[in-house]
Amino acid sequence: MDSRIVNIEKFDNEYIEEITLRPSSWDEYIGQEQIKKNLKVFIEASKKRAEALDHILFFGPPGLGKTTIANIIAIEMNAQIKTTSAPMIEKSGDLAAILTNIEEGDILFIDEIHRMSPAIEEILYSAMEDFRLDIIIGSGPAAQTVKIDLPRFTLIGATTRAGMLSHPLRERFGMHFRMQFYTAEELSEIVKQASTKLNKVTQSDASYEIAKRSRGTPRLALRLLRRVRDFAEVANENEIHIQTTKYGLDQLGVNDLGFDEEDIRLLELLISAKGRPMGLSTIAAALSEDEGTIEDVIEPYLLANGYIERTARGRVATEKSYSHFRLTPIRTDKLL
Ligand code: ADP
Repeated sequence: MDSRIVNIEKFDNEYIEEITLRPSSWDEYIGQEQIKKNLKVFIEASKKRAEALDHILFFGPPGLGKTTIANIIAIEMNAQIKTTSAPMIEKSGDLAAILTNIEEGDILFIDEIHRMSPAIEEILYSAMEDFRLDIIIGSGPAAQTVKIDLPRFTLIGATTRAGMLSHPLRERFGMHFRMQFYTAEELSEIVKQASTKLNKVTQSDASYEIAKRSRGTPRLALRLLRRVRDFAEVANENEIHIQTTKYGLDQLGVNDLGFDEEDIRLLELLISAKGRPMGLSTIAAALSEDEGTIEDVIEPYLLANGYIERTARGRVATEKSYSHFRLTPIRTDKLL
């Protein structure tokens, strides 16, 4: 697995610690205020009606809290949650096994739902809409359709790529929420909360420094906190101070804006195009990176913060990028 420190995908050894640091109530779940506000209303309404919650779709880059919020919803609904991810459901039998084990009001969380195969998706349609499982057993003239009634459950889907979701699947979710990148203030709060759980006080300026360099992403902020804590421990410091934090983050190669090598390579590439838009496949080839990683992991933060722009003809670096590298922007209107 890629070991770059700001890779937003989970590192294998992070699962356990992420679970211990994972918020379990709305109060601990910082930010995403509008989403929280709406969800609280929908949860209360469905509890009043004693009905399962409508199916929910969360989309946004990795590490922004989709899995965490799904778990909080389950706690708030007093429901059990079963977690899986689309690539793990290979055969229709896999999905049937999951669905037939579900109880009334349970939550099924499917991560990376855009990676579901079309055949499995078909089965999911009737399960989501009619709470019925239609599976075909056998093949040819002897094939039989078996219909099984399912209890009312809530499917929570998470995806980094809303655009890759088929229209019929997307339509079957009653609620759609786009996760936002976090502000430095929110991330600073998340860092403080986590350091309390880790029994290590982080001073305010230190937690803000970590927050600023975390690309708006809690997973990254928590990872940087753990590494900075290592630096503080080795230096025999009881608390995490700003000096150790800055030193540690610099040692890790995370710059002031949280950019890492991959971000810088992408920005330099776009700047070298001298204002001409560059297509995704050209960028992928030049950076030896797959298109999915560029679209899901590297680009969203740069786009959301105005460092690059996506035009019909490709990606371009913005003035903000040029000034980051202390360069003068090229007048693109003459080139387009
Ligand atoms: P995703 O499912 O979007 O990839 P996760 O839900 O796994 O992201 O979040 C990554 C980690 O970041 C979690 O373990 C959790 O501890 C932390 N986290 C995410 N969102 C928040 C939040 N809003 N407040 C506090 N911590 C958060």
